Amino acid sequence: MKEGKAFVKEITPQSEDFSRWYIDTIKKADLMDYTPVRGCIVFKPDGFELWERIQEAMDKRFKETGHRNAYFPMLIPESFFQKEKEHVEGFNPELPWVTEAAGEQLEERLALRPTSETMIGHMYSQWIQSYRDLPVLINQWANVFRWEKRTMPFLRTSEFLWQEGHTAHATEEEARQETMQMLDIYAEVVEELLAIPVWKGQKTPSERFAGAVDTYSIEAMMKDGKAVQAGTSHYLGEKFARGFEIKYLDRDNQFKYVHTTSWGTSTRLIGSMIMVHGDDRGLSLPPRVAPTQVVMIPVGPPKLRERVMAAFDPLFDQLKAAGVRVRADLREETPGWKFNEWEMRGVPIRLEIGPRDVENGQVILARRDTGEKITAPLADAVEAVVNLLEEIQQNMYQRAVEFRNAHSHLEINTLEELKQHAETAEKENGIAGWVLAGWCGDNGCEAKVKEETKFTSRNIPFEPPAQKSACICCGKEAMHTVWFARAY
Ligand code: AMP
Ligand code: ZN
Repeated sequence: MKEGKAFVKEITPQSEDFSRWYIDTIKKADLMDYTPVRGCIVFKPDGFELWERIQEAMDKRFKETGHRNAYFPMLIPESFFQKEKEHVEGFNPELPWVTEAAGEQLEERLALRPTSETMIGHMYSQWIQSYRDLPVLINQWANVFRWEKRTMPFLRTSEFLWQEGHTAHATEEEARQETMQMLDIYAEVVEELLAIPVWKGQKTPSERFAGAVDTYSIEAMMKDGKAVQAGTSHYLGEKFARGFEIKYLDRDNQFKYVHTTSWGTSTRLIGSMIMVHGDDRGLSLPPRVAPTQVVMIPVGPPKLRERVMAAFDPLFDQLKAAGVRVRADLREETPGWKFNEWEMRGVPIRLEIGPRDVENGQVILARRDTGEKITAPLADAVEAVVNLLEEIQQNMYQRAVEFRNAHSHLEINTLEELKQHAETAEKENGIAGWVLAGWCGDNGCEAKVKEETKFTSRNIPFEPPAQKSACICCGKEAMHTVWFARAY
């Protein structure tokens, strides 16, 4: 992609073209690059570091809840996919295949894994014999492949990085608890680390994971009003246990099938975080995930620099010692150039010190989230920075909640109204947002909404902000209250 390689001079304003804004921003901030392989990107160091912080937060919680990491092969024999009918139907169209190796045709072709239920199911059938072997609580950090038709860096790529948890339990009840526990952990990390509010809920049958009994998701709203499925947790029932003969001898001397779960989050979270918080100046990173939380920049004439550095250097050390991820920008560029650069990269706080500040015993703190400039006493600068980082984190979350609520529509009751709404929104500011609607439970109604408005069901929220009584499509009694939105 030639165009992608060129240095991005100006970031396209969000209101002009949101997708263009997104691509400009991630290119200019040097988070990724395109490759000659369709849909496959490079996660460059600044992008990968965001993933490492997400990994760290997730992994800690997985371990606290008794899971351990393992690694399974990337190549999966074709016959494995045939063992669960819905799974193969769902994934077959997206699989890349290895058909030959060392110059010879393989006897059985091998798929590059799109997810590992089959390989792991096969192994679990050998590892699990008795109730004493249960539960099995394993997570894997890996790359997976899904040959997607439409791709978008981070949000939807053909190869992506993720974690996939796979657990096996003696009872349905325990497996269902696990499914919910992991959904809660996903919501917690996404809300607390990435400052993205989410709706937890259940997917409708048509949006279920291929081979799951029930799929649950967390859904987030981007700044263009579109939705992202930010993570999923599946109760797989006995489906994979039956397909792969995962049985155990119970206390009552009966052989029984295990109940399995699987759950995943991916590098899609990086893209979601960028689309929730970024603005026309570029990235805006929540402090808890920002690789650099504070950038220190000396200002004022070079001949007075020594005086400034006498205060600058010790403060840098103190911030570091306090555990703040701080960076000093001492390059020979103008302060204004540096300010723009770090704003574009989304650093939450810029700390300026000039000769006059040293004289007055103060520093200037500039917030990336609001643009506000604050004067703080030099003596208390560390405390001021630590408190401000926390305040920025909270403020970014609050703002995302307010944005989401402002673009969530609870008043739309019919398909006609939804069409009207989408048309007007497009004309006025391009943000159609989400619509909370009643649904009778019929797949046909859901499909019709999608066909006529491109709004798809996101999930059936556990705690909807309102209850809807009639189906948005047919007007019959609503079985469920559902979020509908256009989605990435
Ligand atoms: P699934 O195994 O289909 O439930 O997917 C687990 C999670 O991976 C989803 O909730 C998404 O957040 C993410 N995901 C799915 N497909 C992609 C993709 N092509 N690129 C990046 N992330 C993805
Ligand atoms: Zn209906």
